[in-house]
Parts: sequence; C-alpha cells; structure tokens
Amino acid sequence: MNDAITVLMYHAVGDERGACEGADAHYAVSSRQFATHLALARDNGLAVRSVADILRRDRAERCVAFTFDDGHASNGPAAELIARHGGSADFFINPSNVGTPHYLGWSDLRDMAAAGMSIQSHGQQHVYLDDLAPGEVDAQLGDSRKAIEDQLGTPVTIFAPPGGRVVADMAGVARRAGYSAVCSSRVGLWHRDEGPWDIARLAVLLGTADAQVARWMRQDRWEMANRRARHAVLSSAKRLLGNQRYDRLRAQLLGSGRDA
Ligand SMILES: [Zn+2]
Repeated sequence: MNDAITVLMYHAVGDERGACEGADAHYAVSSRQFATHLALARDNGLAVRSVADILRRDRAERCVAFTFDDGHASNGPAAELIARHGGSADFFINPSNVGTPHYLGWSDLRDMAAAGMSIQSHGQQHVYLDDLAPGEVDAQLGDSRKAIEDQLGTPVTIFAPPGGRVVADMAGVARRAGYSAVCSSRVGLWHRDEGPWDIARLAVLLGTADAQVARWMRQDRWEMANRRARHAVLSSAKRLLGNQRYDRLRAQLLGSGRDA
C-alpha cells in the first residue's frame, strides 16, 4: 500500500497566459493550468486537500495536497475554485504583507478560512531564516503564528520557511514555537511514515507541463525510480554472483524450486 502523498506548491495564479500583477512570472501559473490541475485530480480520483486536513484525517482517502506560498491576491479566486470542487488547501502567508498591494487582506483570509481553507505561516516577513540570528528566527515563527491566530481565530499549526531556507533543528524550532508540522521545499513525495517535520513539495510553475503534474499526481516518476533502483540492485547482484548462482538465489527467494 502506497502511503506517499503528492504535495503541490503554488504561488500566484495569473490570467489565461499566466500574467499576474505583482507576482514573479516564473512562479505564477495560468488560470488555464490551474483549472486543468483540478480536473486532473478529479479524473485521477484524488480529493484536493490541505496538509492540515490530511494530518487530521485517517489515511483511507486518496488525495493530493494543494499548498500556496506568499499570500498573493490571486489566491482568493483560486481558493473559491478549490472550494467549488469540494476541496481545501493550505495558504502560507506573511502577516507583514497582508493588506499591502497585490496581497490578500485579512477579510479575504477570513472568507477563505470560512470556506474551509487552512491559513498557515510563512514567517512574519518574507525573509530567509538562515540569514537571521536564532532569536529573530523564533520571532518570525512566533509572531506570525500569533498574528494569524489573533486575526482569524483559527489554529496555525504548519510553518513553511520562506524560500525553503531552513535552520539547524528546524523541527525543534518550529515545535517550540507551537507548530506541529513543517512544509519544506524539499523535492519529492511526502511519505507519511517520515513524519510531519519536513514535508516535501513539488513546485508548480508556469513552465510545468500538465502532463508532468499528471505524473506527479499518479506518482509515476517515483514508480519509475523505484523500478530503476530495483533493476540496478538486481543487475549488480547478477554481476557479483555470476548468472548461475544469481538464478539459483533468485529461484530460492521467489520460492520456486528451479531456475527460470
Ligand atoms: Zn515564499
């Protein structure tokens, strides 16, 4: 049973061609891409969920996690679309940017929370933690959590470090600041048995092909990597043992009485 979850990381959602005021063009996706990704989730039988939801639920549901970093204003309409699909997502925001040009305001975020979205912390400001002194790191995590909880009245339990820059013992720092999970920018699938302190994500960009997103949702790439790794192990065993002994060993391992 595969217990890996695909966690997608978005930033802004632009117009049909991906243009989006006040957002990095490279990191924005187009509205067409975004609608296609929601349709791909549905077609693959995957519920669209926030990481917060997944951490609360049992493991039975087949799902894909949608997350958004930076709190760009375009995340509001994206959240509406997700809610219309019966889904949810995490939005990692910086309280210092809330209500400034091109960013969501607190009333937008309140509406999103009321629609079932998970509003989480991306730090008080969008600064890299590895540039800061330890006390400043603690303040980025603690102040942002308190600001969001005070404004929205919803629990802030997940931290996503800006730019994916982590500090030593990120898990311990986050835990002491009151968090119970960290969404990082480590590339890969989230294997739930690895725990919630370094949740890998896959960045979806303007240049990310729909077919790539489909493969991520189906986790084909990792299936192929597993197969390649298995193939390499078997090939080197064959070289080490010589084909004959290899075949005998293989037959024994597979429980067959004779060589294939
Ligand atoms: Zn960011």
